Amino acid sequence: MTTDRTPGPADDPFGAPDVERLVGDIDLDPYLGRTDAHAGAALADPVPTDAGTPPLLTLRDLATDPRFPELFARALRAAGPDFRELFPRDATPVLREFSRALAYALEATEQAAGDTAKVEEVVDFARHLGADHRKLELTRRHHDTFGEALVGTLRHLAGPGWDDRLETTLRTAYAVLSAALREGEAAATGPARVGATVVEVDRPTRDVAVVRLITDVMIDYHPGQYLSVLTPYTPAVWRRLSPAVPSNPAGQIEFHVRDVPEGTLSGPLVRSVSVGDRWVLARPLGHLDVDRTEPFRDVLMVAGGTGIAPLRCLLVDMMRFGDNPRVHLFYGARHPGDLYDLPTLVDLASTAPWLTIQPVSEADEDPWWAGARRELPRTLHRRQTGTLVDAVTGWGSWADRQVLLSGSPEMLRATVKGMVAAGTPRENILYDRP
Ligand SMILES: Cc1cc2nc3c(=O)[nH]c(=O)nc-3n(C[C@H](O)[C@H](O)[C@H](O)COP(=O)(O)OP(=O)(O)OC[C@H]3O[C@@H](n4cnc5c(N)ncnc54)[C@H](O)[C@@H]3O)c2cc1C
Repeated sequence: MTTDRTPGPADDPFGAPDVERLVGDIDLDPYLGRTDAHAGAALADPVPTDAGTPPLLTLRDLATDPRFPELFARALRAAGPDFRELFPRDATPVLREFSRALAYALEATEQAAGDTAKVEEVVDFARHLGADHRKLELTRRHHDTFGEALVGTLRHLAGPGWDDRLETTLRTAYAVLSAALREGEAAATGPARVGATVVEVDRPTRDVAVVRLITDVMIDYHPGQYLSVLTPYTPAVWRRLSPAVPSNPAGQIEFHVRDVPEGTLSGPLVRSVSVGDRWVLARPLGHLDVDRTEPFRDVLMVAGGTGIAPLRCLLVDMMRFGDNPRVHLFYGARHPGDLYDLPTLVDLASTAPWLTIQPVSEADEDPWWAGARRELPRTLHRRQTGTLVDAVTGWGSWADRQVLLSGSPEMLRATVKGMVAAGTPRENILYDRP
């Protein structure tokens, strides 16, 4: 005998709210043939618009509304399968960056008040972005579809406040910006993307992977630069990584990646990377460099964690020269055993009389859970305990040095702030912005 009863939440192994969340998370648009993501669903509280505000500023306010990234992501998903492949599963962080860039362009154009040189600065900014976007291999159709989705999303956000004036201004501004993006894409040289195969993986600590790859063709980057990297561990997520060895004809390249807690890419990468995996690398960028203008100015390098990679790359490159500025390197991490690159650095220093290394760790000892650690090699200066910024500023202002920094956003923020307070001229400090 069967009992006819309606299943209740107790029959559901996930519990009802979890099932709803699960279904809500699935992008159904492709199966439902939806093309206009915003059709028929007016916003309950559209962004207020005012006919007295210049249209470029109204558009900026619409593009910076907190709902914009999510709504725009929906519009792009509806625009076609190409866009679903171009963006990560959660496209909102990328579209939040786009919203900031668009807001800058709209506001700066308004403030330029017709001054051609200032408008040209905005166009140059778009060209620069275009050179970076080359890695996405966008077609004219992508640009047009993106523009239509943008117009649709801002119109949706404005609701009844949308008018011809806003539509014409947005279409004109987008036409100028997308033409500049395409110019930037076309002007960049070298391959847009280069494939690379992982040939070796080392895991010197629980949260760091040292990944060695061979690229299909040589990538000509300057030591200290970083590359945009696309990996198989989180589809469509590009991140910046800094090679730890200079560019070479054999195409050998090495990256050091730290598992950032809650990070989209770094955790899956550190846990999953293995020999044979294929990565995609794109256009080198960045400004970290040693100024070799004579007479040499001595160098202070400060590296936190995997931030050592671009600085070690610069040091390896310096080994080519008979004569070098003196370099003092502070290399810091949380625990002593996290100073995983110290053996290589000590090897370099053994044949580089111009290089001295100061290891720093926040804790004096490794935690029990870190397991067995390699013995740290001896350095001229004993390891100091404390934060990098305290160790660096404890030695003085370093006002006569060129200063190169590399590390996490927090480490960069704290070090710049502390060094400037200690008397280092701000303009002497070089680092690539997070
Ligand atoms: C110029 C440049 C060069 C870089 N080179 C390297 C490199 O050689 N090796 C490397 O491991 N990483 C490097 N990074 C950082 C890297 O690009 C990613 O930001 C990092 O791996 C986190 O990505 P994610 O997707 O895991 O985290 P996300 O999902 O992007 O971010 C998750 C959270 O972590 C924070 N976060 C982002 N980056 C860091 C970080 N480095 N430390 C602490 N918190 C962070 C974010 O603010 C956010 O709150 C570089 C970054 C820049 C800007």
